[in-house]
Amino acid sequence: MTSIDILVATLMQYGDLRRDEPLSRHTTFGVGGPADLFVTVRDAAGLAMAARAATDSGVPVFVLGSGSNILVADRGIRGVVIDNRARGEAEAGTATWQVESGMSFAGFARKMCRAGLDGLTWAIGIPGTLGGAVVYNAGAYGGCLGDVLTRVRLLDRDGRDEWIDAGALGLVYRGSAFTRGQFAGRTVLAVELRLQPADAPELLARAAAHDAKRLTAQPRGRNAGSMFKNPPGSPAWKLIDAVGLRGATRGDAAISDKHCNFFVNYGNARAEEVAWLVAEAQRRVREQFGVELEREVAFVGEW
Ligand SMILES: Cc1cc2nc3c(=O)[nH]c(=O)nc-3n(C[C@H](O)[C@H](O)[C@H](O)COP(=O)(O)OP(=O)(O)OC[C@H]3O[C@@H](n4cnc5c(N)ncnc54)[C@H](O)[C@@H]3O)c2cc1C
Repeated sequence: MTSIDILVATLMQYGDLRRDEPLSRHTTFGVGGPADLFVTVRDAAGLAMAARAATDSGVPVFVLGSGSNILVADRGIRGVVIDNRARGEAEAGTATWQVESGMSFAGFARKMCRAGLDGLTWAIGIPGTLGGAVVYNAGAYGGCLGDVLTRVRLLDRDGRDEWIDAGALGLVYRGSAFTRGQFAGRTVLAVELRLQPADAPELLARAAAHDAKRLTAQPRGRNAGSMFKNPPGSPAWKLIDAVGLRGATRGDAAISDKHCNFFVNYGNARAEEVAWLVAEAQRRVREQFGVELEREVAFVGEW
């Protein structure tokens, strides 16, 4: 038996395993080549054990949430992709919840609104998991995860599993110790959120208003949300519009003509086509305005 055969046999104990799974099936962009090994886990224990097993065998590990903030290379991802569907939740005190990291952020936010708990009305249209939301400190309409996050349960590279205070994550606008590379190899197993009791109908009305705004502003077509962070001074979409790229296309990839910070897949776009448009937007904005557009969407896999 090779070490990969042993790893495969181990991973099969923790979840459903597939080989050469196309990642275009698992990203909101609908783009991306295969994962060598793709294991779907359904609780935090399975997530921790799968991550430990892959790390111990020296194989690269990528934890996938909803795939809503990544562009996966056409050649895919080498090693193990862990498809995180750990969705357990428990009340851990007054208005305090502990939730596994594969939980849908939007779904949980809606549940909290219905339960009359304030703090996440802005999150109802964000299509990721709570794990992904920690990595990017997901936010919208003046709110962000950092406002309600108290602790995070992390698995480190040495297999240690512990709760740490949210302060240690260094959360900033669409960033954290993860995006800065300081927490490389760590996995978010669960989060703890503290909310505020409030009137449920009022919360649902606020959430519905955010939803309506989103529907008007955002384009159709498969995408990964905003491609770039907004630089100081001007929103990214305005700069991209000003350099003449509204509606630009490359194959089936396009810069949305509805919202220029959304890059969309109108059919069978390839990652390299999206990446070409991204580089073109960065080049033109740099040359015309001297502004460096920083990507919010992560390019992952074998480029
Ligand atoms: C239509 C649309 C609208 C959007 N609107 C917003 C918005 O308003 N505000 C906003 O902030 N974002 C928005 N996004 C972006 C995206 O939804 C968020 O960034 C989301 O938090 C990403 O979560 P995910 O589970 O999809 O992460 P993924 O894309 O699956 O992963 C992103 C990164 O996080 C890592 N990761 C994921 N889970 C874990 C874990 N458990 N442990 C360690 N690392 C992990 C992955 O390895 C990867 O590096 C939008 C996206 C779309 C498609």
